Amino acid sequence: MKGLLRNPPLSLYVHMPWCVRKCPYCDFNSHAVKDSFPAEKYIEALLADLEQELPLTWGRPVQSIYFGGGTPSLFSAGQVENFLSAARARLDLRPDVEITLEANPGTIERDSFSAYAQAGVNRVSLGVQSFDDELLRAIGRIHGRAEIDQSLQSLHRSGIANFNIDLMFALPGQTFAQSRHDIEQAIQAGPAHISFYHLTIEPNTAFAQRPPQLPDDDAAWEMQQNGLELLEKNVYMQYEISAFAQQDKHSRHNMNYWRYGDFLAVGAGAHGKITTPADGRVQRYVKHRHPGRYLQGLESGDWRAETRLLNDAELVFEFFLNQLRLKQGVSVDDFSPRTGLPWLAAEARVQKALDKGLLEAVNERLRPTELGWRFVNDIQQLFLP
Ligand code: SF4
Repeated sequence: MKGLLRNPPLSLYVHMPWCVRKCPYCDFNSHAVKDSFPAEKYIEALLADLEQELPLTWGRPVQSIYFGGGTPSLFSAGQVENFLSAARARLDLRPDVEITLEANPGTIERDSFSAYAQAGVNRVSLGVQSFDDELLRAIGRIHGRAEIDQSLQSLHRSGIANFNIDLMFALPGQTFAQSRHDIEQAIQAGPAHISFYHLTIEPNTAFAQRPPQLPDDDAAWEMQQNGLELLEKNVYMQYEISAFAQQDKHSRHNMNYWRYGDFLAVGAGAHGKITTPADGRVQRYVKHRHPGRYLQGLESGDWRAETRLLNDAELVFEFFLNQLRLKQGVSVDDFSPRTGLPWLAAEARVQKALDKGLLEAVNERLRPTELGWRFVNDIQQLFLP
């Protein structure tokens, strides 16, 4: 049994793996819908999968549920509701549980968000990416400006004020003025949260095979700096490299992930991390990735493709990995409860980061300095197993 462990907060991630079509830059586990997809059967599979996870988390309250994808809004509000009612019966959901649904413009009917709200969804993350029709075409999105406006109207009618807009910059052929216009439009839409990402070309994507002409590094840097300024001027404060929120509107789910909390995960290719009750060790697991293979679990009861117990070096690395992306940095007090290790296990690496001026110690927290913030990858490397 590991010493010092206390169970960290617990969240549930639900992966919905279908999209209308595959975007050329996307390396997520998403599959283009051909004529139809087995939505009802998939919900049945998610619940059977969840059932098998329950012994790992008995009695622990769940603080957030996140439907990610793929495009979860391809599932009807009724299907989401069926999942949530069954999940409520099986899990101890906190009264203020945050329930987020990722949605893409072009997949939202007029009153969809009201129906999702009735199903229990209280936060939406809308995959806008850009407000410019030409740029949206360049990145292969199925929607244009008209669909974005329709989604935003549906969202405002639904009363879900806690919503996020996903926005990308450094898109093919994008100018500084276009990037600025995108941010202004996003702010004007009045979300509680904006995620502002650099488009990156990932291996095994259509863009990796046929790379588009992208703005150069200097141009991308200017877009990013201008975005940060505009967002902070409009009280969207940066709390993670790509995440900006109005006061108290951080994504609770993502914060738990970044702060090395625990995650149940159901759905094709979903990744979970759980502190196991029997011995206090930390396990990571991943579900079968292909939806067809995942659905076979309904017959075989076999949902996991891999389960791994983390060793001490991995625990140290993982604890620091994502927290160093947070403006608030890392709480030293969380280290032992979340890893089961004494602080000594991390001390030498932390000292190195302090000596290099990449981290600073402030009130029992370790925060990236201005230099560290610019070179987060370098700090992360210091913690590699
Ligand atoms: S909509 Fe999102 S998940 Fe689906 S293919 Fe495009 S980027 Fe990937």
